[in-house]
Amino acid sequence: MAVSTTTIPARKGWSAHLVAGTNIRLIDVEGGQAADLWAYNPADHDEFLSAQHSRVHMGQAYPVAGWTFVTNQRRPILEFTHDASPGRHDCLAAACDSFRYQLLGADPDHASCEDTLIAEAAKHNIRVARAPQPFNVFANFHVDTDGRFELDKCLTEPGDSATFTLLMDAVVVISACPQDIVGFQPGGPTSMAVEILDAPGVSP
Ligand SMILES: [Zn+2]
Repeated sequence: MAVSTTTIPARKGWSAHLVAGTNIRLIDVEGGQAADLWAYNPADHDEFLSAQHSRVHMGQAYPVAGWTFVTNQRRPILEFTHDASPGRHDCLAAACDSFRYQLLGADPDHASCEDTLIAEAAKHNIRVARAPQPFNVFANFHVDTDGRFELDKCLTEPGDSATFTLLMDAVVVISACPQDIVGFQPGGPTSMAVEILDAPGVSP
């Protein structure tokens, strides 16, 4: 039973300062939606969940249940404890940003996961200039056998979820990706939900 459940509206973000041991579940409410996830050390903002360090740590290119994500100081920060989805996730593609949308011909004020990160991190006095490589939950991106990098459609069904355990205190930021030009989110940007499953201590 969740301690709290928060809806992340389509194209918006969520963040919380969580303590080690907290379990959170990210739910794709309507299906076909991806989320960008970051985690920062609240005591040292230069330390954060690092996709490239985690790939080396785990010896795999794609996150799966059982993964331990490490920081750029190679310390465990987040465990991917349970996957109730088709199992496709990415940590190779950059977050969408205003530059990406300019290149795609979108309006200058188009929302982006990078802007969401910057705004959410600021709530915790973390200044972010550019987004680190995110953990792209439910993103079905992959390298084909011929080396092409495909942004394939998300495979999630309504209610699919991924559950994580914090391995150190962290500010976690999640962005419901607003990508509506490149069609990897069937049905377009939709809302997501975050459940705090138990809370040794939560300070919003
Ligand atoms: Zn995005």
